[in-house]
Amino acid sequence: MTVPHTKLALNNDLMKLGLAEAREGLRSKKFSSVELTQAYIEAMEQNRHLNAYILETPEEALKMAGESDTRLARGQAGSLEGLPLGIKDLFCTEGVQTTSGSHILEGFKPPYESTVTHNLKTAGAVFLGKTNMDEFAMGSANITSYYGSAINPWKRADGKDLVPGGSSGGSATAVAAGLCLAATGTDTGGSIRQPAAFTGIVGLKPTYGRCSRWGIVAFASSMDQAGPMTRDVRDAALLLEAMAGHDPKDSTSSPREVPSFEKVLNQGVKGLKVGIPKEYRLDGMDEDTVKLWENGAKWLKEAGAEIIDISLPHTKYSLPTYYVLAPAEASSNLARYDGVRYGLRVPGKTLDELYENTRSEGFGTEVQRRILIGTYVLSAGYYDAYYLKAQRVRRLIQQDFELAFQKVDVILTPTTPTPAFALDESPTDPVVMYLNDVLTVPANLAGLPGLSIPAGLSKDGLPLGLQLIGPAFDEEVLFRTGTVLEQAASFKSFLER
Ligand code: GLN
Repeated sequence: MTVPHTKLALNNDLMKLGLAEAREGLRSKKFSSVELTQAYIEAMEQNRHLNAYILETPEEALKMAGESDTRLARGQAGSLEGLPLGIKDLFCTEGVQTTSGSHILEGFKPPYESTVTHNLKTAGAVFLGKTNMDEFAMGSANITSYYGSAINPWKRADGKDLVPGGSSGGSATAVAAGLCLAATGTDTGGSIRQPAAFTGIVGLKPTYGRCSRWGIVAFASSMDQAGPMTRDVRDAALLLEAMAGHDPKDSTSSPREVPSFEKVLNQGVKGLKVGIPKEYRLDGMDEDTVKLWENGAKWLKEAGAEIIDISLPHTKYSLPTYYVLAPAEASSNLARYDGVRYGLRVPGKTLDELYENTRSEGFGTEVQRRILIGTYVLSAGYYDAYYLKAQRVRRLIQQDFELAFQKVDVILTPTTPTPAFALDESPTDPVVMYLNDVLTVPANLAGLPGLSIPAGLSKDGLPLGLQLIGPAFDEEVLFRTGTVLEQAASFKSFLER
């Protein structure tokens, strides 16, 4: 049983629209972008207790909306013209504070715009502000943010505040609670899909290379990917189309054409082969989750897909592999925060002391832990035993998927082992927290696209997500299959309850 979040104040029905519907409304002049944006600004003001945003930018938003209205009137509308979005605070936004959820970047106003946000601006989107997140995208509950935890709008019967998941917890909260139409997230080990599952929204991690990483604060560069967080699958297709594309400034961004994802949504799953990997059935997995997974397979079968049992034998090594490689890359990426070039500076008598003081004060515990692990596994004497070994295992995990995709078109799993947990019940043991990522991390290690669809409720009335994993650069199969699951599940979002 869920207790509705009584404190959540919704201005009007504008808050319940999806991106596609709002786009229709704007084009048919039912409302203007300024009206729509104003409604969202009020919703944000009235729901600050959810701490979804680190920075609200209402003036800039209204200015962007006014410009959109002019372009709409002239018939020059871009694909996202006038649509208000939340932007994860990991994306550098020109002249607008970008903190990555960290004290060390407090006050940092990038002189440049990330490629993804640049693409969104070019498509006409309106930016409402920068959403809350775990510090440097390290976490699964949004509790490592220097700016306080974002709160999941969903409640359990005991009324406790729940985490929205992480690291894109602010974006998830904002989308679920109607504090933006849709949002950007990033996913290195599950940070789009896990919070999407915890808040009952749709989240997509695209194929590595689909979106440019340029101007996104780096965590683990070989896995970081930007992606959409939305109220439905169609919105995710729409938003990804605008975000994605080749960027000469990121050598790992793919030169492939971005397909029209919206076009494939209703192609159905007839004849599609759907793999169910036995290794994802974890010991002690919630019964509700197991049931949901079975339902998902049943729905796809009823829609004409063939369900095939598969094996991804190296799955059990995914988590340890990720937690060697991600900290290793992070320790190198975070070396640049030295108190000289960005944000916070805590002086010292010598240069070394300045570095030490700045980094001790500027980084939180989880970030310091990862830097220490990362430097350890990269240091001479341990490099072969940990880093190199992890790289080799990563290859085996990739091979598991390559072999599986010779037999099936798409893989179906749950997104998370459990629903959202209470803020005051968050694991204090970091390794227990890392277990949240067990079902999402393999797709990052293999560079594959993964989509989370809200598909049911736990016995406590909390959202649960199903995950679809596809072959590289086949987001289309995820959108097609996701649409079928979405229709079959007919999940009622937080706003519809
Ligand atoms: N929870 C994972 C971690 O803490 C994943 C984070 C992410 O995807 N950015 O590393």
